[in-house]
Amino acid sequence: MIIASKIRINRVTSILYYCIFGRMNSADIKTVKSILSQPQKIAIIPHRNPDGDAMGSCLALYGFLKAKGHTVKVVAPNDYPKFLKWMPWNNTVINFERENPKAKATINEATLIFTLDFNDLSRVGQMESALQEATADFIMIDHHQQPGDYAKVTYSDVTMSSTCEMVYNFIDFLEETSLIDADIATNLYTGILTDTGSFKYRSTSSKTHRVVAELIDKGANNMEIHQNVFDTNSPSRLHLLGVALSNMVILPEYKTAYITLSQDELDQYDFKKGDTEGFVNYGLTLEGIIFALIFIENREEGIIKISLRSVGDFSVNEFAREHFSGGGHTNAAGGRSEVSMDETISKFNEILKTYKSKLNP
Ligand code: 5GP
Ligand code: MN
Repeated sequence: MIIASKIRINRVTSILYYCIFGRMNSADIKTVKSILSQPQKIAIIPHRNPDGDAMGSCLALYGFLKAKGHTVKVVAPNDYPKFLKWMPWNNTVINFERENPKAKATINEATLIFTLDFNDLSRVGQMESALQEATADFIMIDHHQQPGDYAKVTYSDVTMSSTCEMVYNFIDFLEETSLIDADIATNLYTGILTDTGSFKYRSTSSKTHRVVAELIDKGANNMEIHQNVFDTNSPSRLHLLGVALSNMVILPEYKTAYITLSQDELDQYDFKKGDTEGFVNYGLTLEGIIFALIFIENREEGIIKISLRSVGDFSVNEFAREHFSGGGHTNAAGGRSEVSMDETISKFNEILKTYKSKLNP
């Protein structure tokens, strides 16, 4: 009797927990189970400039849904970095920029569309109108703040380390973790690894580690994955890192450090997509620095792409939203500026003055 009532209380607590914290609720789980009980034509979409978590979550879900007998395609808005091009099934990904008719047809014909690792349709760039015209129902799985409401089912949880951890949970909610094979596990591990800064960011919980342990048991080779992601540097990328570090400006009175990279510098060191990944974090390794940024010129798009990182309570999500048409998480966000590098830096320095008491109280 005591055991039975304990189980009941646990169940009630967990339902309450899901309701209060925005985890997936039981009605949504039922809806998803019912949709997936029929064969579907499924398109899975990551955000533009997909990172390890976006690709890992999409490819893991691809493997899982295939194993359940659906027709599945991952359609990426554009290309992704070379350090992710070893991931299981990555050679099946359709690139919307390069294979436009095929990508559009996949979206049009889909009976179900998953959007992963982003919170608003504007995050897919040029692909937005194709998604807006799609007739399929959407399922969103994401951990960014302020999720939009375009999906039939929204599984949004901003406390999660990564969308990959959420895809693991999603499969768990469906009671189908037995379908996670070594390839699915490898994709999920990769996304958790990259989005947690190798398991060190604040959102890395004991649950994250339990999921990762499960993934290793299911065949993710952790040593190989770390090597594939981090130990495939080119000499030119390390030289570019040298330039970035020597360009770093440190502003102790604002506990801030920022890096700039011009298009000329990128060209000089044979810049390839993904080469600047992680550069922004060096600012935060300085003692006393809590706000770090990198400003990267992109002449082709006519913008300065900005990455923002913080430690503690200073919200780079709010900063990026307010001043640089961006967003993300409390401690990691992105944004853009449409004026020159010099003007962008001047604007940034002016804005920073108004944050002095927040950054250095
Ligand atoms: P990164 O600096 O690595 O490009 O992005 C850091 C985080 O901010 C990621 O979670 C990414 O999805 C998010 N992010 C990057 N750029 C943008 C943007 O332009 N808008 C929004 N809303 N989020 C962004
Ligand atoms: Mn993510």
